[in-house]
Amino acid sequence: MMIVMRTNATQREIKNVIDRVQTYGAQAHLSSGEERTVIGVVGDVRAMPRDEFIRMDGVDRVIPISRPYKLTSREFHPWNTEVRLDGVVFGGPQVVVIAGPCSVEDRAQLLETAHAVREAGAHALRGGAFKPRTSPYTFQGLGEEGLELLAEARAETGLAVVTEAMSPEQVPLVARYADMIQIGARNMQNYALLNAVGASQHPALLKRGLSATVEELLMAAEYILSHGNNNVVLCERGIRTFETATRNTTDINAIPVLKSLTHLPVILDPSHSTGHWEYVEAIARAGIAAGADGLIVEVHAHPEEALSDGGQSLKPERFAALVRQVAAIADAVGRSLAPAKAAVSG
Ligand code: PEP
Ligand code: MN
Repeated sequence: MMIVMRTNATQREIKNVIDRVQTYGAQAHLSSGEERTVIGVVGDVRAMPRDEFIRMDGVDRVIPISRPYKLTSREFHPWNTEVRLDGVVFGGPQVVVIAGPCSVEDRAQLLETAHAVREAGAHALRGGAFKPRTSPYTFQGLGEEGLELLAEARAETGLAVVTEAMSPEQVPLVARYADMIQIGARNMQNYALLNAVGASQHPALLKRGLSATVEELLMAAEYILSHGNNNVVLCERGIRTFETATRNTTDINAIPVLKSLTHLPVILDPSHSTGHWEYVEAIARAGIAAGADGLIVEVHAHPEEALSDGGQSLKPERFAALVRQVAAIADAVGRSLAPAKAAVSG
């Protein structure tokens, strides 16, 4: 349930309510808007008498939250959450673009692609160092060496780094190097990983599972938020359907649905959702038109040599064209593309 405080409630009154919630063994999550404070109560609320809270000083209303996800819901937090990475804002009025190779392969590959995506207008750099591959016999990523290369690319380009952690044990290591920890589709319901990323308080990119419903995605986000970590960006990356013409089927519907159900930013991955570079631009445009707060796009300077996902990777010049189209679509839907990151001097 949600305890809405009066606009003039004092800090003491807010604290009294939180203390009372805790005596029932429940958690109180504070959400302060410009006007008023809302206290989200999570835990077993069945034993809690609503009347007792309604009578407390400073309390305006007590509202049950009907959805199974609580902290993630717009009912609890009506305002858009903005997730910030070193000057890049997800969930604000401006649309942002993360781009880079599927995997970090070597220094030359990463730096060439990182410079190219920055010049094209990307705001953050992606690249996997720990790769969740379908086959154990394919390239598994460079591990910590890949993270070091990402840190070098960040220093050279000024782009924030987004990279995946596949297990709870990897979280502290990945958090040391990355500005945002990606939780891949295959790990969307790895609860130990969700808990570790939640506890880290690090910004997270949570990708929708291959066969996960929107509600399951929101419940996965709830694990992270339940640790007091609200820095979560959701990502639609295509789902499994009977259709085999594309790698996955982009659930465009999920974008406006998620935007209405949750306050968290929502981005689209047109690369994994189509699996073919020829379709990436069209679906990226559709995502921004549908209200996505941004994109994560695979770009490789030499896709034909890529160790993973070359077939869905854009060459830098196609990516540059895509960024121009995204700017135009963002304008058409009353938003704008965030300004490009300035080159790092020296
Ligand atoms: C990736 O981003 O390279 C990736 C493996 O994505 P997903 O988890 O969505 O398949
Ligand atoms: Mn990939």
